[in-house]
Amino acid sequence: MKLEEILNKENYSRDEIIYLLNLKNPEEMQKLYKHADEVRKRYCGDEVHMRGIIEISNYCEQNCLYCGLREDNISLERFRMSVEEIIETANQITKLGIFTIVLQSGEDSEFDADFISHIIFSIKQKSNAAITLSLGERGFDEYRAWKIAGADRYLLKHETSNKKLYSLYHSKQKLIDRINHIKFLKRIGYQVGSGNMIGLPMQTIEDIADDILLCKELDLDMAAFGPFIPSPNTPYHSKNAGSPELTLKVTAVLRLVLKNVHIPATTALDTLDQLGREKGLNVGANVIMPDLTPHPYRDNYQIYPGKRGVADDPVESALKLQRRVEALGRKISFSRGDSMKIVLPAL
Ligand code: SF4
Repeated sequence: MKLEEILNKENYSRDEIIYLLNLKNPEEMQKLYKHADEVRKRYCGDEVHMRGIIEISNYCEQNCLYCGLREDNISLERFRMSVEEIIETANQITKLGIFTIVLQSGEDSEFDADFISHIIFSIKQKSNAAITLSLGERGFDEYRAWKIAGADRYLLKHETSNKKLYSLYHSKQKLIDRINHIKFLKRIGYQVGSGNMIGLPMQTIEDIADDILLCKELDLDMAAFGPFIPSPNTPYHSKNAGSPELTLKVTAVLRLVLKNVHIPATTALDTLDQLGREKGLNVGANVIMPDLTPHPYRDNYQIYPGKRGVADDPVESALKLQRRVEALGRKISFSRGDSMKIVLPAL
């Protein structure tokens, strides 16, 4: 296969994606990155969208083998933010000029349909910021209630499209259910994000190619692919972390294959590589997601250890990120950064 021919294609086969993910020659990798950056510029422009994350609860009823929030991790100090704290933090985020608020938690049924609806409604009373929910796999009635209350987007990562690995990592869950939830969310009008984790134990390059193709098939609005980082007190605590270099290749290939979707340069990449955000933004990413969870909670949202910026003041940390983006010659967007695709009205 000739690299130039592949790079200029409109659609990519599984074999071509695998070929790109397997590139090792530094010169060829630079060509891939440059081309992905050009495609990003063509479809998304130079603006970088900021999504302000509030980690509202670190309780979780699941036991994913790779995650520090898993229910069996009894060494983790658990928290739930109060309604007032969540709403106040959301207000502060919009004052920073960030107009997407991501409410994130483990799968915590204590935060039920009414509780989350009340928060969404209260935030929407004061601002037109977009609200993204990242609350795990929840009931279809809950998704619907939250959409009616004003939620705009839902982030539900599939983590792996390999059915066997999915069942291994998530003993209580099935891949088919996860995909059906993603399809349902799209159907009722959410802008939907999903993605995988790169470097999970036993994952192959072919699996990652399938993850990318699944994102295309699901016609996502956002795709987030970050590296796996082993977490203490989990069954995978002694496994190797995902490779930052492979994460960059995946980011570039995602941009080539998916084109007009939002792709973040993830905090996990920035944790493994001091210039991870810059490198991600240079190879196809157009989004960053600063953690604006207030102290003392932010220290205890430990999906993985050593998260970059966790000890910092959240506002200072977000401003520092803005400066890093601007130093690249990219502009911070002050819009909501909605889907670049047509979104159906809510049911
Ligand atoms: S990945 Fe999500 S659902 Fe799984 S244990 Fe962690 S927080 Fe819970």
